[in-house]
Amino acid sequence: MTQDAIRLTGLSKTYRGKRGQPEKHALKNVDLTVPRGSVFGLLGPNGAGKSTMINILAGLVLKTAGKVDIWGFDQDTNPRQSRAAIGVMPQELNLDPFFTPRGALEVQAGLYGVPKSERRSDEILAMIGLEDKAEAYARTLSGGMQRRLLLGKALVHRPNILVLDEPTAGVDIELRQMLWTNIRKLNEQGMTIILTTHYLEEAEEMCDEIAIINQGEVVVRDSTANLLGRLDAKAMVVHPDSPVSALPDAEGIAAELRGDGAVVLRYHTNSTSAEQVLAAVRSAGITIRDVKTEEADLEDVFLSLTSSR
Ligand code: ADP
Ligand code: MG
Repeated sequence: MTQDAIRLTGLSKTYRGKRGQPEKHALKNVDLTVPRGSVFGLLGPNGAGKSTMINILAGLVLKTAGKVDIWGFDQDTNPRQSRAAIGVMPQELNLDPFFTPRGALEVQAGLYGVPKSERRSDEILAMIGLEDKAEAYARTLSGGMQRRLLLGKALVHRPNILVLDEPTAGVDIELRQMLWTNIRKLNEQGMTIILTTHYLEEAEEMCDEIAIINQGEVVVRDSTANLLGRLDAKAMVVHPDSPVSALPDAEGIAAELRGDGAVVLRYHTNSTSAEQVLAAVRSAGITIRDVKTEEADLEDVFLSLTSSR
């Protein structure tokens, strides 16, 4: 028995081009494993292929090639078991406007063959804070309430794996906190969580492991701690008072003279302090007219990870 919650092997998806558009290689030969019990973050910019991957897992998009293994069940040869192992909260609000939250949960449970005696609509309604809206039409629910209902629907069959596609994109802080709390609680109860996001901060806060996907390829897959270690790169840009004759030279600092006469000093905040960088600048005889620092953001990470290959 495999210990992976998910194992993707050579997964590819090519969308056929519509109306004369070229075809789109949304996933290119992706190999990826997600360990059981983890909170796994799938990060990437818009269009990277995150939803395509999630929707293949959910059985909503047909893969072009490769193997998808969910909780030890091959999606092609064991479709029923693999489907039962996973619950997906989609990115798009796709609720039937004429269902009530309770109705939507009951129908979903029916679709997954959960017997009436094992249904737990009340428990789920309480968890997502919709008890008092249980009998309201979905179309009368706010966007935030609809998202909470989508989370509830993903949970009706007690899946081993919960997948959330951009659960907090564009939601208010209150809902974000509520989702985070629920996600943590579910994970503590043993559920494997996979979430996609383009917020680095969210991944940092929530995830044990992270894969970064860009243009249909996994460019890095590491523990969050290791990845953040790589992300502590910082740059200090010093504008000197007079032209520089010698660049600062100190361990852990890479100095470079820019075309406009500024000195760019790259260092890692884990091992080098700003004070050490400034000291190196001073001991090179440079008088500082102006200085600013630049932090690596997700964009830089993508750039560095994709250009260095
Ligand atoms: P993400 O969720 O990371 O933003 P998606 O998986 O939604 O990325 O999209 C990946 C790429 O595939 C994008 O270039 C997108 O335009 C394209 N794409 C997504 N769905 C379709 C579709 N149904 N038909 C054609 N192209 C699509
Ligand atoms: Mg998406």
